[in-house]
Amino acid sequence: MRIRDKLIVQSIFLLGMALASADLFFYFAEKKHLLAEQEKAQKSSVTKLARVCGESLLGKNDIFLLNYARTMMENFPEIVWIAALDPSGTYLFHSDLLSGDARLLGKKASGWWAREALIKSGSPISSGSDVAVRAGGKSGVLPGAVLDAIKTPDIDSPRILLAPILSQGEVLGIAVLAYNRGVLNDNLKTTLSRSHKRFIWIILAALFLGILGSTVMAAYFNRPIIKLMEGARAIGKGDWDFRIDLANQNDELGMLAMEFNEMTRKLRDLDELKDSFLHHVSHEIRNPLGAIGGYLQMMSKQSGDLTETHRGYVEIIRKNVFRLNGLVDDVLLLAALEAGQIRYDIRPCELKGVAQSVVELFAASAKEKNILLDCDIPRDTPMVMMDSERIRQVLINLVANALKYTPEGGGVRIGAQEWNNLSHVRVFVMDTGSGIPAEKIKMMFSKFSRVDDESSKRMKGTGLGLYICRQIINAHNGSIWVESGAGQGSIFSFTLKVRDVVS
Ligand code: ADP
Repeated sequence: MRIRDKLIVQSIFLLGMALASADLFFYFAEKKHLLAEQEKAQKSSVTKLARVCGESLLGKNDIFLLNYARTMMENFPEIVWIAALDPSGTYLFHSDLLSGDARLLGKKASGWWAREALIKSGSPISSGSDVAVRAGGKSGVLPGAVLDAIKTPDIDSPRILLAPILSQGEVLGIAVLAYNRGVLNDNLKTTLSRSHKRFIWIILAALFLGILGSTVMAAYFNRPIIKLMEGARAIGKGDWDFRIDLANQNDELGMLAMEFNEMTRKLRDLDELKDSFLHHVSHEIRNPLGAIGGYLQMMSKQSGDLTETHRGYVEIIRKNVFRLNGLVDDVLLLAALEAGQIRYDIRPCELKGVAQSVVELFAASAKEKNILLDCDIPRDTPMVMMDSERIRQVLINLVANALKYTPEGGGVRIGAQEWNNLSHVRVFVMDTGSGIPAEKIKMMFSKFSRVDDESSKRMKGTGLGLYICRQIINAHNGSIWVESGAGQGSIFSFTLKVRDVVS
C-alpha cells in the first residue's frame, strides 16, 4: 500500500471514529432533551387542567370542563383519561363522562395510583378510606406546584401526572392526567429517529468532505516523498546532476532532501575522480602497450627463430595486448564521449551498407565458432539520420557481445524494421545466446555493469560496451533497449530517425 493511501485510510478511520462518537453523543443528548421537553409539556398540560377544574368547580360549570377534556383528548392521543378528585379522593370528574359513563362520579378513587396521589398532593385526608392517608404531616401543597409523575408499577400501566386544584391557597382537589406509556414511547422514538436521520445526513456530508480533504492533504504530504523517490531513482540511474527541489519544505523531509543533494554532489565528485583517474591511467598504459605491440610484431616476423613453445607464448601475449588495447580504447572513448569531445557527423545514410560491413568484420570469428551470422535488412528500409562511423561502433559492440555469449551452432542476426509510424527505424541485433536475467536488464546500459553468471565470468569484458552504445544512441536522440531472459537469447534494439522527418 502506498504512503498516500495509508494516510487516506488512517484519516478516514479517525474521522469515522470521531463521527460515530458524535453520533452516539447526539443520540443520547437528543433523547434526554426530548424526554425533558415531553415532561415539561405534560406538566404544563396538567397545570392547565387543574386551573380549568378550579374554574369549573367554582362556577359549577361542568360543561366547560367536559369540553376542555374532550379537546385535550382529541388533540393528545397519548392521554388515556382525565379526572378530578376532591381532597378526600372522591371523583368529581372523569373523562368516561364523554362516552356517557358516569359510574365513577362520587366514588372513592382506588388502585395503585390513588393512594400515592393523595400522599403526594398532601391533601387533608379522612382516615379509613383506602386512599385517605395523610402525607408525612403535610397539610397543603404550594399553590401552582406541579406534582411529580407517579412512578407506575409496570410498563403497561399509564403514567399519571397530578396538580392541585387551588383556590385562594385552599386545595379544592386534585387534577389527574393519565398518559399511555406506549404512545409516549412511540412519539419519542418517531421524533428521535426524524432528528437522527437529519444528523446522519450531516455525518455523511462530513464524511464526504473529510475523505475529500484527507485525499487532498495526503497528496500534499506525499508530494515531497515522491520528489525524494524520483531523486533516488535518477541517482540510481547515474544522473549525478539531479537535485531534489524541496527548498520550501521546512521540515525533516526538506532536511533529508538537502542531505540527499549533498550526497549526490559527493558521489558526482567521486565519479569524476574515478573517470579522470581511469583516463590518466589509460593514457599512461597506451604508450607501453604500443611498444609491446611493436616488439611483438617484430618477433612474429622473425618467428622462424622461435621454438613452438615460444611462438605459443607470443600468441598469448598478443591476445592479451589486443584485449588491453580494447580496454584502453573503450575508456578513452568513454571519457571523450562524456566530456562532449566527440563530434557527430549526423547525415542521411544507408543502414544496410554499415550493417553489412560489420557482418564482414565478424564473419571469420563467427565461422570459427560455427555461428550463423547474417544481416537481414529489407531493401526498402529508408535512409536514416546517423553518424555512420559511430553507429558502426554500436553495431560492432552489439555483434561482438552476441558472438561472445552465443554458444557454438547458434545464430546472430542484424535486422531492421520501420518503427513509430514510419518516423524511425528500429535496428536490432538478435542472438540465440545465454540471455540476460530479467532482474539485470535494467542495469545493463550502466557503466561497468555485467551479468554475474558463469558465462559472463568466463568471457572477459569491462562492462563499458553497452554504456558506450547508449551514449552514442542518446546523441542521435534515439532509444536503446534489450529484450531478454536467462537462457532465452537476447534482442538488443535501438532507434534512428528516418531521413525526411522534420524534428
Ligand atoms: P562487456 O561485454 O565488456 O562485459 P558490455 O557493456 O558490452 O560489457 O556488456 C555488459 C554485460 O552485458 C556483459 O558482461 C554481459 O553480461 C551482458 N551482455 C551483453 N550482451 C549480451 C548478450 N548478447 N547476451 C548475453 N549477455 C550479454
